[in-house]
Amino acid sequence: MTATDDLLEARERLLGPSLSLSYRTPLHIVRGEGAYLYDADGRAHLDCVNNVAHVGHAHRRVVEAGSAQMRRLNTNTRYLHELVLSYADRLTALLPDHLEVCYFVNSGSEANELALRLARTATGRPDVATVDGAYHGNTQRLVEVSPYKFGGPGGEGRRDDVQVMPLADPYRGAHRGEGLETAAEYLAEARAVLQGEAERGHAAGAVIAEAIPSVAGQVVPPSGWLAGLFDAARSVGAVPIADEVQVGFGRVGVDAWAFGAAGARPDIVTMGKPIGNGHPLGAVVTTRAIAEAFANGMEYFNTFGGNPVSAAIGLAVLDVIDEEGLQEHARVTGERLIAGLRELASRHEAIGDVRGMGLFVGIDLVRDRDTREADAELARELANVAAERGVLLSTDGPFHNVMKIKPPLVFSAADADRLVETVDAVLGELATG
Ligand code: PMP
Repeated sequence: MTATDDLLEARERLLGPSLSLSYRTPLHIVRGEGAYLYDADGRAHLDCVNNVAHVGHAHRRVVEAGSAQMRRLNTNTRYLHELVLSYADRLTALLPDHLEVCYFVNSGSEANELALRLARTATGRPDVATVDGAYHGNTQRLVEVSPYKFGGPGGEGRRDDVQVMPLADPYRGAHRGEGLETAAEYLAEARAVLQGEAERGHAAGAVIAEAIPSVAGQVVPPSGWLAGLFDAARSVGAVPIADEVQVGFGRVGVDAWAFGAAGARPDIVTMGKPIGNGHPLGAVVTTRAIAEAFANGMEYFNTFGGNPVSAAIGLAVLDVIDEEGLQEHARVTGERLIAGLRELASRHEAIGDVRGMGLFVGIDLVRDRDTREADAELARELANVAAERGVLLSTDGPFHNVMKIKPPLVFSAADADRLVETVDAVLGELATG
């Protein structure tokens, strides 16, 4: 048996079977550096997927910050310590002034779970409104507010205390277009959901949304949609929550936050994935009023959240983003990548849409440009063949036909060009069979 077969057999025997592996030929990755992953044979793979390794795989500065602090001390946050405070200071400085109180947790799911608890305690209302196609995490309540999960295989359907607003998808949604008028059509529907539920005594306590819905297919909603959605939330007394787990920390290029780029004003922001460059870290930042309402006598304690090692790592990530100019780099490289992919669309009929912002990009593959019928099979083939050529992509969206591109921000212009060339070559070969 090969090492790969041994690993596959052990994995099947030892790990829960509800976890999938990427690619037809699974990869045995043993090392990462910058935007590259290296397999056990030393072969380099360009990572176009991993938005967790935000400042690059195994970034020396982050690794050193974490290991130096591990050598010194790691405890919970019931002692005074400078690092968690400097970190909270740095994070809140990146946010609008009204977002001033931090909670530290260990994952995006923990961040969203806490955000829902904050909103529920502050409003006294358990109902949550969510956007169609969304995924917000792996806890029971988050699965219940994630149409991607409760409406998918194994899901139990929508519960009575969950409200689903339409996804403002300019390419596939009921209303097409990218401007304010299209946003207004989606917002009228969102308001009808929120107000209808309020009238039957189920006013939402929270409205949770991503500025650029990710698993829903890297959808860039029309201008004004998120801002309008959060206004609609306030009009029924719900707390607007921006889930920045995928899109935060400069990935969208024009702003540190995707909600900022969308001109929206959340009262809770949740963060995960890129925040610790792979170290398990998450954060929730909210208003003083919500934090005070949550302090109702029941302590919120999180054993690992905000520990000095995590804080040192989080600080190092912020330093690297600043010092290496990664937000601006994401803007410039993202523009180059999107332009390159749009040029391909002029030659490949299968590319129905190219969308994104900064280094958060999607390619919507179709069987027919007029009907926009999704081509999941082509998406899967493209991911598998590109992986054989050392370019790692993933697929997502409700029809599994969207290529998701969200690489470490150190992705270079040459990496972007290579990605475009690979997509060009593979689509060409697959089209001619
Ligand atoms: N929110 C969004 C938007 C996500 O995409 C994810 C994970 N894919 C989560 C929350 C949950 O994060 P985690 O897996 O770190 O718990």
